[in-house]
Amino acid sequence: QKERRSQPVHIAYSTPSRCELEKPAEFKRILVTGGAGFLGSHLCRRLLAQGHEVMCLDNYFTSQRTNISDLIGHPRFELIRYDVTEPFFCECDQIYNMACPASPVHYQFNPIKTTKVSVLGVMNMLGLAKRVKARILQASTSEVYGDPEVSPQTEAYWGHVNTIGVRSCYDEGKRVAETLCFDYMRQHNVDIRVARIFNTYGPGMHPYDGRVVTNFIMQALHNEDITLYGDGQQTRSFTFVDDTVDGLIRLMEQEKTVGPMNLGNPNEFTVRQLAELVIELTGSKSKIIHLPLPGDDPKQRRPDITRARTFMQWEPTTQLREGLVKTIEYFRTLDLRAYKKPTD
Ligand code: NAD
Ligand code: UDP
Repeated sequence: QKERRSQPVHIAYSTPSRCELEKPAEFKRILVTGGAGFLGSHLCRRLLAQGHEVMCLDNYFTSQRTNISDLIGHPRFELIRYDVTEPFFCECDQIYNMACPASPVHYQFNPIKTTKVSVLGVMNMLGLAKRVKARILQASTSEVYGDPEVSPQTEAYWGHVNTIGVRSCYDEGKRVAETLCFDYMRQHNVDIRVARIFNTYGPGMHPYDGRVVTNFIMQALHNEDITLYGDGQQTRSFTFVDDTVDGLIRLMEQEKTVGPMNLGNPNEFTVRQLAELVIELTGSKSKIIHLPLPGDDPKQRRPDITRARTFMQWEPTTQLREGLVKTIEYFRTLDLRAYKKPTD
C-alpha cells in the first residue's frame, strides 16, 4: 500500500497576506466540487473558518456566484468554473465531491446529464485522488435506499430502487458512484469516505429548487396555496444544514473508513406535519391543497444513525422547529431578483 502524503501542502505567498497571519501550524488544501451550491457553500465557509485553503469548483448548473460572494476575495479561497464530467488536475489533500443537482426538479431537468455528473464526476475525482493521494469524500444520499421496505434504514440495507423510473438517474447514478468509491479503495487503495446524506435544509437553499421545505416556506410567506403531493402521509427526516456539514467534516477526519455513513436526523415527520408546522411558524393564511404524487416518490425515509453515533460521536443537534425558524428568516429577507425560476 502506497503511503499517503504525511505532510500538508505548503503554499508560498509572494506578499504577506491576512492568510499567513491566520494560518495555523497545519492546514490542508481542500477541493470542494459543487462548492457554490447549498451544502457546498456552507462547507467552504466552515473549512475556511478552520484555517484551510479551499478550492471551489462549480459549473453553476443549480447555483450562482452570489451564493459565495462573501468568499470571493478571501486569500485562502479560489473559485473555478468547471464541469466535473471533465477530468481535472490539481494538488490537494482532500476532496469533497458534492457536485450534482440534488432536488428532483433539478435532477430531472436533464436526467442523462445527472447520471453523467454522478458517474463521470466521481470517476474523475477518484482518479485525481489516486494520483495525488488525496482523501476523498463522496456526497451520497438516502436515495440509494430508494422506496425503502424497512424503517429505519441502516447502512446494511441494500435498498429498493427502480432502475428505470424518473428518479433513477439520481438514485442509480449515486449507487454507481458508491460502487466506484469502494472499487477504487479495494483496487487502488484510495482513501474514501461515503456520506449518505438525508434531506437537508437551511439558509442558502435556492428559492426555486422545488424541494419541499423551500416550496412550503416560499408559498407560506406569499400566502399562496401549500402544494401537498399525494395524501401527505409520506415521511422524511429533515436535517439542518449545520448538522450535516458538521457530519461531513467529522467523517472526512475519521482515521479510516468503516463503510458508508448515514448523516440524517432520526426524527421522522409526515409531509403534512411539515406543511402545518410551516404555516404555524410563518403565521401564514395559506391553505393546503393536494396535487398528484410524483412517480416513485418514497413513502418513508428515516435514518438509523447508530454508526455515526458510535464511530464519530455525531448526531444532529438542531431540531426541525428551530431549524425552520432560521430558514424562514433567510427566505423572508432573500432578494428573489437574484434567482432564476425553472421557467425563466
Ligand atoms: P445544490 O444543487 O445546491 O448543489 C450542487 C452544486 O453542484 C451546484 O452548485 C451545482 O451548480 C453544482 N454542479 C452540478 N452539476 C455540476 C457539474 N457537472 N460540474 C460542476 N458542478 C456541478 O445541491 P445540494 O443540496 O447542495 O447538494 C450537494 C450534494 O449533496 C449533491 O451531490 C447531492 O446529491 C448531495 N445530497 C444533498 C442532499 C440535500 O438534502 N441537500 C441530500 C442527499 C445528498
Ligand atoms: N413534496 C410536496 N410538495 C412540494 C414538494 C415536495 O408534498 O411542493 C413532497 C414530495 O412528494 C416528497 C417530499 O415532499 O414526498 C420531499 O420532497 P423533496 O422534493 O424535497 O425531496 P425528496 O426527498 O423527494 O427527494
